[in-house]
Amino acid sequence: MNNPSDLHVTAETGDALIVVDVQNDFLPGGALGVKEGDKIIAPVNQVIRVFLTQKLPILYSRDWHPADHSSFARNGGPWPPHCVQGTEGATFSPALKMPPDPLIFSKGTHVEKEEYSAFQGRDSTGRSMAEALSKFGVKRVLIGGLATDYCVLNTVQDLLKAGFRVIVLTDACRAVDVSPGDGENALVEMIAEGATIATAKAVG
Ligand SMILES: [Zn+2]
Repeated sequence: MNNPSDLHVTAETGDALIVVDVQNDFLPGGALGVKEGDKIIAPVNQVIRVFLTQKLPILYSRDWHPADHSSFARNGGPWPPHCVQGTEGATFSPALKMPPDPLIFSKGTHVEKEEYSAFQGRDSTGRSMAEALSKFGVKRVLIGGLATDYCVLNTVQDLLKAGFRVIVLTDACRAVDVSPGDGENALVEMIAEGATIATAKAVG
């Protein structure tokens, strides 16, 4: 693993920032709270500020499940009910910096589909994230959010498969760690598949 402190990232035209699932249910105290999930908000906001200043695209994803979603334990899935459409738990953290008209991509909106990857998300007009990235002329994606070992991992894998360069902001991610080390293993996997790592503070 390269040392993330080695890399300075100059945000420029062709870059996009993807902020994965910074929703109340994934923060400490939430239905599926990620340990120290709240610690990512300051670094994420710092990068959001850079992208807003430079008028570069920021894409926010959210888990947005129907109440009877197949990923919930009562329906045979692995998770407690979380991020049910329209609930407080599904709302973005009030601490997360968002522009007045944010680009929001919802995923897991169909009962039978899990969709960990934000790349599978769609905006309110039905446009896919892939279409949006293409329209913005994006070549390189910086990414942070929750959680490293599920939605960030799957999003990064889809981005790499689609030919994007990807920089994972390690201090802007936290893992669920169902098994200890899942988050670290996910990072190793993303790097092996072609992602680079950096820290949010290295982005300017
Ligand atoms: Zn979910």
